[in-house]
Amino acid sequence: MDENFTKPWHGINREKISWNPTVDEELCIGCGLCVTGCGRMVYRFDFEKKKPVVVDPLHCMVACVTCANTCPQYAISFPPLSFVHRLIKENHLMKQAKDVLADNRDKYALRGSKKS
Ligand code: SF4
Ligand code: SF4
Repeated sequence: MDENFTKPWHGINREKISWNPTVDEELCIGCGLCVTGCGRMVYRFDFEKKKPVVVDPLHCMVACVTCANTCPQYAISFPPLSFVHRLIKENHLMKQAKDVLADNRDKYALRGSKKS
């Protein structure tokens, strides 16, 4: 496991968040797109079975569904996004974000002229 990918999510211990992909092996054709497309090394590839394996589920970025969106077989699933929205609500993350924006105005402020 790589600690760089398991940091708390908006202050919530990553181990307390059940967010990771599940692969339906019946649908999967072993193209490997999910394995090579994930920058967080969630998957490894079983070259004998020609199937991806979720080896480091906690590496998965909470709320990311990129691999599911790019899988040509619709073989990857995640919990419903309502799970993420509930986390946001229960942990008051919108208030937290507002406070972080206010405290870091210089960092996040849009600069220069806007193009239309
Ligand atoms: S992208 Fe989909 S079809 Fe391709 S290896 Fe991954 S799960 Fe299987
Ligand atoms: S959802 Fe994103 S971070 Fe998680 S395994 Fe897929 S591509 Fe990687």
